[in-house]
This record gives sequence, C-alpha cells and structure tokens, in this order.
Amino acid sequence: MTSGIIFSIEEFAIHDGPGIRTTVFLKGCPLRCTWCHNPEGQSFEPEEMVKRGERSVCGEEYSPEALSAKLLRNEGIFRMNGGGVTFTGGEPLSQSGFLVSVLELLDGRIHTAIETSGFARKEVFREVLGHLDLVMMDLKMIDKDRHRKWTGVSNALILRNFETLASSGKPFIIRIPLIPGVNDDEANLEATAALLEGIPSLQRVELLPYHKTAGAKYPMVFREYDPGFDTEASPRLDISPFERRNIKTMIL
Ligand code: SF4
Repeated sequence: MTSGIIFSIEEFAIHDGPGIRTTVFLKGCPLRCTWCHNPEGQSFEPEEMVKRGERSVCGEEYSPEALSAKLLRNEGIFRMNGGGVTFTGGEPLSQSGFLVSVLELLDGRIHTAIETSGFARKEVFREVLGHLDLVMMDLKMIDKDRHRKWTGVSNALILRNFETLASSGKPFIIRIPLIPGVNDDEANLEATAALLEGIPSLQRVELLPYHKTAGAKYPMVFREYDPGFDTEASPRLDISPFERRNIKTMIL
C-alpha cells in the first residue's frame, strides 16, 4: 500500500467536525492561497522547520496500517461522543492513494470527515467521497480569474467536484475563508449563496474571517509572508446573501 506524508496529528480537536476528533494533516497542496496559514503544509516533501529556536523536520512518513492503528486507539472515545477522524492538510486529496487505503481500514468503525479545497481529478474526488461520512469543502471564490489570481489555480475542477458533492446526497459543510478585499465582496457572496441554494444535504455554511496572525508560521519555514492585501483590514461579515436563501450560516 502507498505510504503517506503527515505533518501533524492533533487529538481531541473540537472544531473539525462533530464530537471530539483526531485531525490528521496530510502534507502537500497544489494551491497557493496567499493567505494560507499553514505554509508548512504546502510542500509535498518533509522540510526543515524552526519552532521556538528548535530545529525539526516537518513531515513524517506513515503506512496506512500504522496510521489507522494509531487512529483506532481512540475508537471508544469517538463512539462515546459522536466524534471521529478528520483529514485535512495541505490538500488531503493530493495523497488520495494513501487516504483511500486508510479510509478502507477505518470503514464503518469510526466517523470520517475531510477538509478539502475540492481541487482534485473528478475520479479521485468520487472515490474518496464514497468512503467519507462528512465533507467540509471550501468555496473560496466563484469568479475564475480571481480564483486563479489569489490561489494560483483555476476553480474549474473545484466547481465540477462541488456539483458531484451536491448531487451525491453526502452531508457537507461549505467553508469560506473571508479575506479582506479578496473575496468578502457582495458579488462573490451572492454568487456563492446562489450556488448553494436549495441543496438538501448542505448542513451549513461556515465563514472563517481572516485573522492577521495568519502569517505567523512563515518564518518557521524560512519564507516571507506577503499575501498582497491589507492584512490590517477586517473582512466584511455579511451573512445576508445566505440568510435570504434560508441557508444556515455560522461565523467561526
Ligand atoms: S488550499 Fe488550504 S492548504 Fe492549500 S494553500 Fe490554500 S489555504 Fe493553504
């Protein structure tokens, strides 16, 4: 089975899905969102990191068996409180062979969720979707040119995978990082809300306002944080496009 590279495993997480969860961070992402607050998750390779003066290697190889055994150690705790495991990153769909192998070993034993940008080939998206209980997917921007400018990639694949998700009946949450002057404008939020209107399996929308501490980790991986927008500004927090369409919305 394909091994995977993980850069963090956080136990007892409470914001990454229902109940108490273990959150697994898979290394590597094909996007380059300028506001990304996990720069150590972008490269697919293990890399040197300096944290509080201590040097370490960020990224560790796991076999599917080793990771699933580690996750199943908390099976009883997950069962007691309706929790489970959430795979995030980076972009977990970029290590889909590894991810599917782990999900097959967990199948039916614990609740599984993913946090994803939705950027993956449609066959990959469909295959992983079939093994999950919950999908948390970002919709960062609907306009394709703006999406490419701020994330480095087109959103064509993402929107196609969103259609697959919306028609699958699988419970899902849409997350929107709200970035000041980038995607917090009325046109983008209206277009996003219109896309989401009337989908029965949509549980809710979660808005994640930008926080200026997002750049804190860049020096740890020897990079400069230069996101190209006013990092002192606060994003517009307008949930009315969603409310008007009866879409449950939370600001995290
Ligand atoms: S998709 Fe997520 S992990 Fe990837 S660059 Fe964007 S914010 Fe960072």
